[in-house]
Amino acid sequence: MTTPVYENFINGHFLKNQTGDTFAVKNPATDEVIYHVEIADEFIQNAAIESAKQGFAAWSAMTPIERSRILLKAVAILRERNDELAKVEVLDTGKPWQEAECVDVETGADVIEYFAGLAPAQVGQQQMVGNDFYYTRKEPLGICAGIGAWNYPLQIACWKSGPALAAGNAVIFKPSEETPLGAIKLAEIFIEAGVPAGVFNVVQGAAEVGQWLTANPNIEKVSFTGEVGTGKKVMASAAGSLKDVTMELGGKSPLLVFDDADVSQAVSAAMLGNFYTQGEVCTNCTRIYVHKNVYQQFIDELKTRTEQNIIAGDPMDPEVNLGALISKKHQELVLGYIDKGIQEGATLLTGGKALSPVSAPNGYFVEPTVFVDCKDDMTIVKEEIFGPVMSVLVFDDEDDVIQRANDTHLGLAAGVFTKDIQRAHRVIHQLQAGICWINSYGNSPAEMPVGGYKQSGIGRENGIETLDHYTQTKSIYVGMSNIESPF
Ligand code: NAD
Repeated sequence: MTTPVYENFINGHFLKNQTGDTFAVKNPATDEVIYHVEIADEFIQNAAIESAKQGFAAWSAMTPIERSRILLKAVAILRERNDELAKVEVLDTGKPWQEAECVDVETGADVIEYFAGLAPAQVGQQQMVGNDFYYTRKEPLGICAGIGAWNYPLQIACWKSGPALAAGNAVIFKPSEETPLGAIKLAEIFIEAGVPAGVFNVVQGAAEVGQWLTANPNIEKVSFTGEVGTGKKVMASAAGSLKDVTMELGGKSPLLVFDDADVSQAVSAAMLGNFYTQGEVCTNCTRIYVHKNVYQQFIDELKTRTEQNIIAGDPMDPEVNLGALISKKHQELVLGYIDKGIQEGATLLTGGKALSPVSAPNGYFVEPTVFVDCKDDMTIVKEEIFGPVMSVLVFDDEDDVIQRANDTHLGLAAGVFTKDIQRAHRVIHQLQAGICWINSYGNSPAEMPVGGYKQSGIGRENGIETLDHYTQTKSIYVGMSNIESPF
């Protein structure tokens, strides 16, 4: 059976490359090639820049309310096609349908809707300075590049294009080479909604296409989602033409469970923050610090619920709540970390092996895995694994656990479970992380700014402030009296 071949999406339509080079995309749950994608060669790259220039001219000339109206049509189409798009995400990523059906498209659409609403409300300022005055305009940056990771492909494309387009920019988006289809679907929807051709372009390929975007002098900003190490390369390359950057990078986030917490709720948070999307979520609380008085209760309930309530299998089965990891290579990496945890002396509470479910025997599954009695200096406690692997540690002193939680170069997210309202805020204020939850974990509504402290990121996505990251301020001084000049 022949599989489809997708071309790059430039200037409102598919465009064939000249080299004929393609790459294959596999369904992680079956190990089968599901389609091929053409790589953006030099011809496509040049066409993308020309297309974005024209798109920018047309789009930035529209009023914010006109742009808003069109983006809201795209939001409506995204919602109408929820199931079709969710299926694309399941087949590309291996994540369970029961997640994609209610989260991936929905949270992407929410963010475009949010910024479409905000765009017409963005105003400059005006101030008298003597008889003269100045005013400011919020102008778009120009052509912005988006580079995405593979865990939430469509959501990432929406989170980057929403504020960029609302502010009047054109976008060239490069999805991860593991999951390239969602962004193409979004590009088609933008055209259908009435976004002018050239405003949202999709180029395909791996690191070299990303490198071209980060180095191209016609591009004003790069918004990147991916690993810390790649983020450093992207930023270094963007520095060559002093591009603006937003960096959404990795994490190794702590969850602190105090002895007055609702332990069952804390177990729910820990499981969501380690096993949702089979552990491939950047904000995951992969270091769980539990107070010694509730440690045994916590791990007993965690073991029971992990062993009884997790169903791995064909991700399209609505009963399945644990999908396949993105690739064979990533499965091996995660299993390698598990081996390292065992070698370094952590106690395996449950899981620890590859899985071969009856309904998806060739998929890249890993058992939900919990290590207990972990120590702060173990590799599994220090490095981002990006799979269903949880490390549980014990503590008995508040100041000490805060210091331990902060002892990392990462700072994406953090959480606290306690019923003591003062302790909740006191502790969370001291945790060095950009996205924090109290008695909750993982929710990220469009209204809430998200981004990392330390090496987990630069800038923010979502929330009001993000619109400012896609505009530049022009100050205009207006003389109302004669110029005084010594010349
Ligand atoms: P990755 O860094 O390997 O790749 C990300 C993207 O960068 C891909 O599109 C890839 O093709 C591209 N790329 C690779 N090398 C490049 C280069 N030199 N120049 C330009 N682009 C290049 O990351 P991944 O494996 O796709 O995603 C997993 C990582 O993403 C995890 O670390 C996770 O924590 C992080 N992540 C962060 C967030 C967040 O919002 N903070 C969200 C999702 C994922």
